[in-house]
Amino acid sequence: MDRATHVIDPDGEVIIVLQNANAPFAAISEEKPAAEDPAPEWPAEVAVQPAEWPAEAAAEEPEWPVEVAVEPAEWPVGVEADEPAPEWPSTAAEHAPAGPATEEAIDRLTEGPADEPVGGVAEESAAERPAEPRVAEQLEENCVRIQVSAKHLILASSVFKKILKGGWKESVTYLQEGSVEITADSWDTEALLIMLRILHCQSYSIPRKLSLEMLAKVAVLADYYDCREAVDLLASTWINALDEAIPTRYSRDLMLWLWVAWYFRLPAEFKKATATAMSWSHDWIDTLGLPIPDKIIRSIEDRRNGKITDLILQIQNIRDQLQSDNKGCGFECSSIMYGALTKQMHQNTLLSRGPIAPFPRLRYGLLVQSVQSLKSPAWCEPGRRYSGFSQRHTCSYSTFKLLFGDLNDTIEGLDPDGLMHL
Ligand SMILES: [Zn+2]
Repeated sequence: MDRATHVIDPDGEVIIVLQNANAPFAAISEEKPAAEDPAPEWPAEVAVQPAEWPAEAAAEEPEWPVEVAVEPAEWPVGVEADEPAPEWPSTAAEHAPAGPATEEAIDRLTEGPADEPVGGVAEESAAERPAEPRVAEQLEENCVRIQVSAKHLILASSVFKKILKGGWKESVTYLQEGSVEITADSWDTEALLIMLRILHCQSYSIPRKLSLEMLAKVAVLADYYDCREAVDLLASTWINALDEAIPTRYSRDLMLWLWVAWYFRLPAEFKKATATAMSWSHDWIDTLGLPIPDKIIRSIEDRRNGKITDLILQIQNIRDQLQSDNKGCGFECSSIMYGALTKQMHQNTLLSRGPIAPFPRLRYGLLVQSVQSLKSPAWCEPGRRYSGFSQRHTCSYSTFKLLFGDLNDTIEGLDPDGLMHL
């Protein structure tokens, strides 16, 4: 084997060859000038002030790119990519460490090669090969090579176990030669080292504080290699040390949080993140290529669409009742309120918008704020001269706040336990 660039176990029989290291992670594919693409987070409080209806107001906000990124570009080579997404919360039995029988098998594997390599195949080590330039050499310069222990990998990860014991070419090589190279692709080097050190019980060398970005990367790796139990031990430490709060607007960081909260089973954080995604996304949910189960994304979009539908129907229903005199204390009252509502709906294209999902370019939170800011007309009783606020007509229908009641601009988030049964 060629020399390792990182040694986690100097006696390790396995070299993980990481190609295309540090590929873009959870990237957004649509290119936008950086200066014009801030995450629509806290400042959006100002930007979404409901002076206007959603269509106009939304257009002024930083847009969430239409095209979504699906990174990392490739799953690691040599591993099946159809591993099922972990359920919430998975039972310990599902990922139980290997039992005694497995340990025996591992011991057999790690005692050393059953047979010494025979003939020229094994003799032809890298060091003895001709020094002629190879096409692959240049590419390999960018490779990260990590020396690790087969036994630790097999014990902690069902995916590594399949690679090393599942009859694949890597396992055959390992059995025949006592060492093997495993190829991986596109992972972040630091995240991979963190995960591998955890699998090797080297907690002393693992940082106690990670960025949200790095934590999401580690979670993706742990999900892919199916070693949640090992990584879980440090999850609460990392999460408590995070600097990044859960965003209050739909953004890339929000999706990273949603992923982290799902993977590490954080019900409160998951509920908050999904609530924000439902309330402040204005189109489909961009998973950024993170392995968030489809049922979560569907649930978010379905609830968002349902709440928007309900609110649009409520607006239309109130307008219909004003038109038919079912609301309003009299002809003037219903006519004035009907006219004011119709005018503002027309100005902001809501008259032509049917309650039919999907609702592109429409944020539920902004729609609510817009309804709450509908301008109510002021008028005096027939036959009385309007001379100020004290003479203004008042009844239970005379303001839009009274007609629509209390509206919450945040949709209740998802209960992760409930998603288990979907
Ligand atoms: Zn009235």
